[in-house]
Amino acid sequence: MKENFSKIIIAGPCSAESKDQMISTAKNIERIQEVSFFRAGLWKPRTRPNLFEGVGEKGLKWLQEIGQQTRLKTTTEVAKTIHVEKCLEYNIDALWIGARTTVSPFSVQEIAESLKGTKKTVLVKNPVNEDLSLWMGALERLDKAGIKKIIAIHRGFTAPPGGAYRNNPLWHIPLELKDRCPKLPIICDPSHMLGKREGLQKLSQESMDLGFDGLMIETHPCPQKALSDSKQQITPEDLKTLLHNLTYNSVPSRDQGILPQHDTSLKALRNLIEPLDQELLEILQKRMSVVKKIAHIKKASKLDVFQRQRMEELIKKLEVCAQKKGLDKKYIRNLYKIIHNESVNRQTEIINV
Ligand code: PEP
Ligand code: MN
Repeated sequence: MKENFSKIIIAGPCSAESKDQMISTAKNIERIQEVSFFRAGLWKPRTRPNLFEGVGEKGLKWLQEIGQQTRLKTTTEVAKTIHVEKCLEYNIDALWIGARTTVSPFSVQEIAESLKGTKKTVLVKNPVNEDLSLWMGALERLDKAGIKKIIAIHRGFTAPPGGAYRNNPLWHIPLELKDRCPKLPIICDPSHMLGKREGLQKLSQESMDLGFDGLMIETHPCPQKALSDSKQQITPEDLKTLLHNLTYNSVPSRDQGILPQHDTSLKALRNLIEPLDQELLEILQKRMSVVKKIAHIKKASKLDVFQRQRMEELIKKLEVCAQKKGLDKKYIRNLYKIIHNESVNRQTEIINV
């Protein structure tokens, strides 16, 4: 590891499960020089009830011990005032606000109020839905409460089941955040983006290439037996290999911004383009499924497939929007004609069956 290593690397289990699990994981993680924070969820926000909801307050003692016995700083998730108060009581170094809490301005405000006057580091995950304002709102509430050390965590946005991601990276959103708040460190949580171990190395590299300021990676001594997120956690040994195999940007990214104008690598830009193209495909697929439903209605009501006047109206509207977005009118007209043509072909097929 380089001496000027400036990435913020956080590792530890999704959930604290037992004292043994916590201490043994922390001791193994401590040996990995790049890691500076130990994470463990104590109060787990589970999507459905009747799942493991965390050990709660009793895990604070374990986390405190790790803070005292290792060089690692400690962090856990807080969702309400009582969590914050308990973390302050047990001297937890940093608190993170989870994706399901960032969506609620009331909850974030409550957390911000209870942190007033403290010097804690606060990490804010993006909200589950792709809403940059909501993310920024949470960061602003903490800033207004006088919190000086704020870090954003990009963990992706709810993705449709069955796809490549549990939570879609939608890189343009955190990059927009970096543009708006150039001094704010933003780290990535590839574990929650993927929802599985496979591909973790590649996605971590992708986020380093995009200039993010660090990583949060879920690490468990025996991932298969983990009580939450068992598919996505890796062992401390695998974490060590992953971190050692990464190439980090040579200049500390916090000084240069996530995507600096003067030093944007081709690789980083390609990493941005690919998911955008995937999104385009997904949108085209959604559009086509609506088109098919329309075809069945047209068939039942014996309507014509092609209605020139409607197509012209739609193109005109799109041209106006395109111009507002700085896109060429002609380009959008041509593109739309291709999309529309394919819709007409598909509808004709359905109607003629
Ligand atoms: C977690 O970090 O374990 C967690 C619950 O994450 P998120 O809020 O991103 O879902
Ligand atoms: Mn988790």
